[in-house]
Amino acid sequence: MIRFEHVFKRYPERGEALTNISFEMKVGEMAFLTGHSGAGKSTLLRLIGLLERPSRGQILVNGRNLATLPRRQIPYHRRQVGMIFQDHRLLPDRSIFDNVALPLVVTGLGQKEVGRRVRAALDQVGLLKRERATPVALSGGEQQRVGIARAIVGRPPVLLADEPTGNLDPDLSREIFELFERFQYVGVTLLIATHDLALVNSMQHRTFTLDDGRLLNDTGRW
Ligand code: ADP
Ligand code: ADP
Repeated sequence: MIRFEHVFKRYPERGEALTNISFEMKVGEMAFLTGHSGAGKSTLLRLIGLLERPSRGQILVNGRNLATLPRRQIPYHRRQVGMIFQDHRLLPDRSIFDNVALPLVVTGLGQKEVGRRVRAALDQVGLLKRERATPVALSGGEQQRVGIARAIVGRPPVLLADEPTGNLDPDLSREIFELFERFQYVGVTLLIATHDLALVNSMQHRTFTLDDGRLLNDTGRW
C-alpha cells in the first residue's frame, strides 16, 4: 500500500532531512514511526500525503507512483490519505458537524449523503451527540476524536497521524490508539508518528525508528 524506494528529502536551508529511506507497508498494516524531535517523522508523513515532494527516490501509494502522478490527480490522491495532526486543526467557529463534513464539500456529494457519512464518522469516534457543539466546548481528547472523524469521513485506505496524542494524558492516548486498531481491522493502512514509547511498547505493532533522517530498524516487533 505504501512503498519507499531510496527516498531522500533535502530542504535548501537545512540539508538532508531524510536519507535513503526504503520500506514497504502492506494493506491493513498498522505501524508506529518513532524518533527524536527533528528526526524526520513529519517530513516522511508529508511525503506520503504529497504535501512535499522527495528530492530523490520513488514513493508508491496504493499502486500509484507519486513522482509521475498527473497534477490533476493530486486532489484525488490527498483524499486517499487521511491526515491527523497533534493540534487537530479544527475550525473554531464551525460546528463539529461542519468540521467533519469539510473534506466532503469538494466531492460534490448531496446534502443527505454528506449527513449520513458525517454521522457515521462521528459514531465511530463516539461523538454522535456532539455534532452541534463547537470545538471549544469539547475536551482535548474529544477534539482529537473530531480530527480523526474528519480524517476518516471520506473512507481513505491510508491514515497518517502526526503525534496524535501529544497533548493527551496516557488513558486518553490509549483510547485513541485503540481506535486506530479498529480502523486497522477493517483494512485501513495506518502509520502513526509518536514520541510515546511506553504506549508503543505496550502494543504489538511494527515500529519504524528514524534517527537524524535515517531509518534505523524495521524489526517487525520491539
Ligand atoms: P520530526 O517530525 O521528526 O520532528 P521533521 O520532519 O519535522 O521532524 O523535521 C526534520 C528536519 O527537517 C528538522 O531539522 C526540521 O527543522 C527540518 N524541516 C522540516 N520541515 C522543513 C521545512 N519546510 N523547511 C526546512 N526545514 C524543514
Ligand atoms: P510537527 O509539529 O508536525 O512536527 P513541525 O513543527 O515539524 O510539525 O512543522 C510544522 C511546519 O513548519 C511544517 O509545514 C514544516 O514544513 C515547517 N518547518 C518545520 N521545520 C522548519 C524549518 N526548519 N524551516 C522551515 N520550516 C519548517
